[in-house]
Amino acid sequence: MPPEPFFSGPGLDRADLLRADPGRVRELAASSSAKELAWDGDVPAIGPDGALVWRPVGDPALFLGLEAGEPRFSALRPGIGDGRSALPLLPGLGAKDAPLFAAALSLASWHARHGFCASCGAPSDIVRAGWSRRCTACPAEHFPRVDPVVIMLAEHDGRLLLGRQYHYPERRYSALAGFVEVGESIEDAVARELHEEAGIEVADICYVASQPWPFPSSLMIGCTSRALGDALTVDYTENEQVRWFTRDEVAAAVADDADSPFQAPPSHAIARALLDHWLAAA
Ligand SMILES: [Zn+2]
Repeated sequence: MPPEPFFSGPGLDRADLLRADPGRVRELAASSSAKELAWDGDVPAIGPDGALVWRPVGDPALFLGLEAGEPRFSALRPGIGDGRSALPLLPGLGAKDAPLFAAALSLASWHARHGFCASCGAPSDIVRAGWSRRCTACPAEHFPRVDPVVIMLAEHDGRLLLGRQYHYPERRYSALAGFVEVGESIEDAVARELHEEAGIEVADICYVASQPWPFPSSLMIGCTSRALGDALTVDYTENEQVRWFTRDEVAAAVADDADSPFQAPPSHAIARALLDHWLAAA
């Protein structure tokens, strides 16, 4: 079974066919079952049960979709930045509402930071019920951006390659990762990043699962690979350390054993899903 990382899943019916009909969207916003997402400053409000908080519709600028047939909207959130202030809230966010949380945060953050046409610099208007912006001066239409990131395991002779970035909590190790560059395939990016960060060559690159990561607009693409050798040349500008761990060491970390050699990534990170998947495949 492929893993289903946190933030993954259908969330709600995005009802994209309705977006192009402004009259229909206005009707939905005025209906008695419509609700608007509540925000707590820069982030969607989360209740004590881990669910998103809703209120009567006041500013239906962004049509998020239909939840059990009921329309869900969000107001614009000018100045909210890149969403990273929401990171500490993740342990309190329920998995059921996580996909909608990700969509609303990424979408509102994109509008807050993309008010002008990237082609000509003129102001742009919201169209498609919030799912794109059209320039007021030239024909350009701009869509909410998605930034692909590869995050990958490399295995050699039963051991796994993990890295520790400088800003990680104490003892944390995780999968290596990096942005996919223009003109590059997922496989090319996995091989390049592992060579840049650890100095290894890999083969048998396989896709495992993906995860939206709305801080502000990443799509994490989880992969596995097989290293052709275990000699490392670590790039210390990106990582404090990169090293191999045995299967027992990874299992101890995932089980949160007191004497485990490192602390595994938290359950909402796709890196954790990749470790679980690798252990289960043994
Ligand atoms: Zn323009």
